Amino acid sequence: MRTTDTVVIGAGQAGLAASRCLTDRGRDHVVLERGRIGQRWRSDTWDSLHLLTPNWMNTLPGEAYRGPDPNGFSSAAAFYGHLTRYAESAGVPVEEHSAVRLLRKRDHRFEVDTDRAVWLAANVIIATGWCDRPAVPAAACALPADIHQVVPGEYRNPGSLPDGGVLVVGVSATGAQLADELRAAGRDVTIAVGGHTRMPRNYRGMDIYYWLDRLGLLDTTIDEMPDRMLARHEPSAQVVGRPDHRRLDLATLQADGVRLAGRVLAIDGYRVRLATDLPATVASADQRMRQLLRRIDQHIEANGLGDEMLAADRPPAVSPARAVGDLDLRAAGIGTVVWATGYRRSYPWLRLPVLDPSGEIRQRRGRTPVPGLYVLGQRFQHYRSSNFIGGVGRDAAFVADHIADRHPAACACAGC
Ligand SMILES: Cc1cc2nc3c(=O)[nH]c(=O)nc-3n(C[C@H](O)[C@H](O)[C@H](O)COP(=O)(O)OP(=O)(O)OC[C@H]3O[C@@H](n4cnc5c(N)ncnc54)[C@H](O)[C@@H]3O)c2cc1C
Repeated sequence: MRTTDTVVIGAGQAGLAASRCLTDRGRDHVVLERGRIGQRWRSDTWDSLHLLTPNWMNTLPGEAYRGPDPNGFSSAAAFYGHLTRYAESAGVPVEEHSAVRLLRKRDHRFEVDTDRAVWLAANVIIATGWCDRPAVPAAACALPADIHQVVPGEYRNPGSLPDGGVLVVGVSATGAQLADELRAAGRDVTIAVGGHTRMPRNYRGMDIYYWLDRLGLLDTTIDEMPDRMLARHEPSAQVVGRPDHRRLDLATLQADGVRLAGRVLAIDGYRVRLATDLPATVASADQRMRQLLRRIDQHIEANGLGDEMLAADRPPAVSPARAVGDLDLRAAGIGTVVWATGYRRSYPWLRLPVLDPSGEIRQRRGRTPVPGLYVLGQRFQHYRSSNFIGGVGRDAAFVADHIADRHPAACACAGC
């Protein structure tokens, strides 16, 4: 049996940020990681994945970007290398290859069982990630066995898929990138389009994240949002991080020969029934993009920045009229379905009453209803940027302050 003040579960950016903030406050802790530091970036990514956020944004507590390319986009491999060096320099007490199997209350403390040890702690921070498991619709089960199915965390590159056409389901950042890559490799690609957030990579000469930051949109809090549930499930921005900073959206995909289809409604063997609301879906995404671009224009005008910025350049419209109808996969020569349909969370080891009916951890600014139990890295945990690399640090500091302020009697250290 080992004791500590705080157990942090997970050594991604959220767990490392928590550790750094606890160290800064002199709190004893351990970080338990089932794989290696930054495991998600090592194993759940495809070969060409680069971060979507520019380098200047991707900083953790206590660091500032000092590299040569603030506007560049790090590869996944470079980023987990960075996380590993950060952990070393921050002295993160991480125990790798320690998967948490059970978290429960034992008397007034938490018991955390891993496959290697049992820990007792006064506090626990769950930092196992928002993008924990792929969220694949139940309809996937109705596909015939000879249709290859893959989720983004298992996809590696076009060569890793069987020959033939591909149906990509989902058109947020991941679906758009994979459709683009597969099409560039000569595949016949159809993309099933659901609700999405369209944004140009650059606008008026600056990266879109520069504008989101400048307009304060990344700092919007969940309390300012009219519908918390909707806010937490906002589709991720449809962007790609490439050296040429090029735009990736339905218009570019369509121009490159990707066929657009409505969202998947039902599957019966090779028959895929598709929604007919594509024009409305596309119009709604375009309208929200135009609103954002208008806000940027207004900001430029209000701050007298017009002379410094490039002229307004609206991305071209998408033509949903050319969308395909219901699909017969066999007739269309489609042998693979890529489910780029987002992520869900799963906490099979959590034996504490903190999950809501949909299985999400109930929390407010990271504090759960169980005193001493915290969570980090949730989508819109408090800020819109809460689950961004550069956003989690603020929440980690808030949680660490809360832990540091807890009554010393709650401390699990031997001397308390
Ligand atoms: C494809 C993709 C691209 C993204 N690109 C960007 C980007 O460009 N910029 C940006 O700001 N954000 C990006 N994000 C969003 C976010 O930054 C990442 O999801 C990031 O990995 C979240 O970090 P985290 O520490 O919260 O969770 P994770 O990185 O998922 O870390 C959780 C850790 O917990 C470990 N773990 C899980 N269960 C257990 C257990 N039972 N016991 C012990 N350890 C456990 C896992 O192995 C993992 O290492 C991206 C997300 C995805 C999916």
